[in-house]
Amino acid sequence: MMTNFETNTSHLNNPLREIQSLTNQQLIRKIDGLAKEGRRITIEILRLLREIERRQLFAELGFPSLFAYCTKVLLYSEAAACRRIEAMRAMRETSEIESKLESGELSLSVVTQARTMIRQHENFSKTKVTAEKRKDVMLALCGQSKREAEKVLATEFATPLPAVPVVQRETARGTTRVTIEFTEDEMKVFEEIRRLSGRPQNLKETVLRLAAKELTQLRKSRGEIRVRAKRSSVESHQSKSQAPENSPIDNSPSTAEVKKEAALPKTSIEDNALAKLNQPTDSRAILIATKRRVWVKAGGRCEFQSVSGQRCEACHELEYDHIVPVCRGGASIEENLRLLCRQHNIHAATQILGGKLMKAYIPAIR
Ligand SMILES: [Zn+2]
Repeated sequence: MMTNFETNTSHLNNPLREIQSLTNQQLIRKIDGLAKEGRRITIEILRLLREIERRQLFAELGFPSLFAYCTKVLLYSEAAACRRIEAMRAMRETSEIESKLESGELSLSVVTQARTMIRQHENFSKTKVTAEKRKDVMLALCGQSKREAEKVLATEFATPLPAVPVVQRETARGTTRVTIEFTEDEMKVFEEIRRLSGRPQNLKETVLRLAAKELTQLRKSRGEIRVRAKRSSVESHQSKSQAPENSPIDNSPSTAEVKKEAALPKTSIEDNALAKLNQPTDSRAILIATKRRVWVKAGGRCEFQSVSGQRCEACHELEYDHIVPVCRGGASIEENLRLLCRQHNIHAATQILGGKLMKAYIPAIR
């Protein structure tokens, strides 16, 4: 005869049957032991991540950041990767955190919460929180729940509303909902923009318009958008059939567009004007036209490829890298240029110039 807690387990796999055969005491002892083991393994993972970051190994493997490596190779969710990286860096800053994490007095999420709050406070106050203060705060958070930690942090780092993080949620319609809190003074800026522009635009329109301007500037600085020379008399009489200067959104030049543009006949006056405009002032400077060709060749993506063939997927913070450095006589020509993300630019420089020289640029390898 079976008790209330017993079930017919013949259809289940063995591990489950084994668990069902445990006494209550055995069950609790087992789960306690595994939770402890789980924390020990987490600490070991954090130590390994620290060493991977110190060696910048993720860059060598073709990833633009430790975060990308954690999500793509270790298959952590974005939030889990974030928590582990934050905790690892907290451990690097304050050695006492390691034992607190291992004992379970501090959780990864509380450490992440504290570091986020400290960053926001530093950004807002433009002052650095000392290592001693960081340590005191972290230790004060031991044994606190996330909500209790929030109160402690709010007292320690009284950060006004602007530092409240932007909350993003994907909606069912495929759009993203963003929540931002503005102070009264910050809202006045938008009100003033509305007043001066004389248009009844809403806040979203204003933000998008400003973001579009910023995007245009960034694309120009990266050579994605051609900087137009002052119109000469010849140009001013030309037909306006050419595409207008790229509008901010979704107008980066495709390969076909650039080729088409290159095929257009130019007058010698235009050529001279452009050549003058693009004249580099030193050997490190790169012509805008060259930048554009390098960008198109790279497909607007970091060109680094690991030994195993892993191509970096970074599409932001890209830099034009001299394959043979300028300090070693490398020229600013297309053949000697490639597009690299910040991390791979540092990695390439480390390979050529050595880690000793590059230490100043990479805090993690100090
Ligand atoms: Zn890269």
